[in-house]
Amino acid sequence: MFCPYCSKETKVLESRLKDSSVRRRRECLSCSVRFTTHEKPVFQLSVIKKDQREEPFQIQKIQDSLQKACSKTEAEIIHQITQRIERKVIQKKTNQLTTNQIGKLVLQELKKFDKIAYLRYATVHKDIDDPKLLEKELKRIKG
Ligand SMILES: [Zn+2]
Repeated sequence: MFCPYCSKETKVLESRLKDSSVRRRRECLSCSVRFTTHEKPVFQLSVIKKDQREEPFQIQKIQDSLQKACSKTEAEIIHQITQRIERKVIQKKTNQLTTNQIGKLVLQELKKFDKIAYLRYATVHKDIDDPKLLEKELKRIKG
């Protein structure tokens, strides 16, 4: 890593590991300026839409769609659900996911937190090809 000020070489003063990222304190060997870098894996994941178009995966979009489905759920819970979904997506170790696969992940997580939001989400995204799941859930809610 070169100095952002003078472009000369830098040395690492200290490295700290936190979760899946590394924070390093660095010092420029030439101008002695100190700065911090954060190292994080970059996940290059794309989503294949129904019309076969491909777009970069954005966790924000999932969070937005959750917010719509869970209008009465606390923001903190929506954030938690979003994080769980993101972790599952990463665990799939793939570079491509279809909107359908993502929809199923969302439903799986939503079901654990908020049944009404789950149904609302499933109804809005009814093209998720998991009608059995929905059917079972409706039966369970009706008692
Ligand atoms: Zn420098």
